[in-house]
Amino acid sequence: MPVTHAATRPASGADSADDAVLRGQDPEMAEILAAESERQAVTLQLIAAENFTSPAVLAALGSPFANKYAEGYPGARHHGGCEIVDVAERTAIDRARALFGAEHANVQPHSGSSAVLAAYAAVLRPGDTVLAMALPAGGHLTHGSPSNFSGRWFDFVGYGVDPESGLLDMEQVRALARTHRPKALVCGSISYPRHLDYAAFRDIADEVGAYLIADAAHPMGLVAGGSAPSPVPYADLVCATTHKVLRGPRGGMILCGTQYAERVDRAVFPFTQGGAQMHTIAAKAVAFGEAATPAFAAYTRQVVANAQALADTLTAEGLNVVTGGTDTHLVLADVGPLGVEGRTARSRLAAAGLVLDTCALPHPGARGLRLGTAAVTTQGMREPEMVRIAVLFAAVLRGGLDSRAARAEVAELTSRFPPGAAFAEVGGGAA
Ligand SMILES: *Cc1c(COP(=O)(O)O)cnc(C)c1O
Repeated sequence: MPVTHAATRPASGADSADDAVLRGQDPEMAEILAAESERQAVTLQLIAAENFTSPAVLAALGSPFANKYAEGYPGARHHGGCEIVDVAERTAIDRARALFGAEHANVQPHSGSSAVLAAYAAVLRPGDTVLAMALPAGGHLTHGSPSNFSGRWFDFVGYGVDPESGLLDMEQVRALARTHRPKALVCGSISYPRHLDYAAFRDIADEVGAYLIADAAHPMGLVAGGSAPSPVPYADLVCATTHKVLRGPRGGMILCGTQYAERVDRAVFPFTQGGAQMHTIAAKAVAFGEAATPAFAAYTRQVVANAQALADTLTAEGLNVVTGGTDTHLVLADVGPLGVEGRTARSRLAAAGLVLDTCALPHPGARGLRLGTAAVTTQGMREPEMVRIAVLFAAVLRGGLDSRAARAEVAELTSRFPPGAAFAEVGGGAA
């Protein structure tokens, strides 16, 4: 039996031995963790970057690998006693390469941001010009925010989306590339709900002699399941997170061709990081193994079908869904037509047990809601539940349903689809 962690256990489920140990030794922290398990179980997790990992992933995270120091790479460590963790890291690397068809994989980045930092370090010098999606259009903090290392150390130029359609304008990207001659072109976003045209980005990068860096943190799980195009054949470097749709532990990775392998590895360690987190790397390997199954491919197709059902029903309920729909797990919606502002909308929805983010919208200064279907799909919800959630959503936003009535609706859904239910029958392997 895999270790069952409170976070993926149905709220009514039995305690595992680990929970009992923590309760005995540190009841204060045990209570805090139990409260979070309960929160995750009785509210709907619509944050686009979140998911529920399998008990097998959590078991690896809570394993004795957490005790091991392992600076360096398999076969070349600065610490003794690494012969077992070396096997684990090689397994993670081999699985990542096979899953994404990449020549080289570095599975050590501690997070998505760490992966981007290392990717920049591998091919750029401070002061270089980088062309990336502008933050108000959906770029990540690591794509040139003045409050991030990226904005301070590099000279970022931002491309946008069409304010009317919300779609990327590749001719604008090309024109900016011709004007600014960037050293690197970055594609990837925190909120773009459509597939990216990686071939077009490659073409532009080639025209101006830039490296192409794909920051595919969001769609990488869909790529693993065959439900989104892969950046791997096109980008020089692909950065990603292993959480989000990919449903692994919190962490990052970089994929690249053999010609960049050494530069990437040196950029991760020793340039930007210290010792590898071997428990997380073991958990990444478990997640890559799960993501290679037909069950995971089916899961990613359902994630997209659910997002489309959510988008369609929100549109029917009068919200303005940016780009008119979605190709992915992401739905970006303007609540303006319902007469509420983004932050008010988020707090009303939170009171109702619907947990999600606000997000910049393509029209200047506007904020809307960003939703994702990765977590609710892991819970086993399908199109009928998405329709119910969208209808509930609109009713709460219009003020037509008080938070108690809304909570009761949410409780009905979460009791039928508890977190962890998808893993219960099969011991951690399927969706
Ligand atoms: C989530 C995300 C990141 C950062 O991941 P962290 O693990 O939070 O550091 C970077 N880039 C993009 C595009 C993302 O979506």
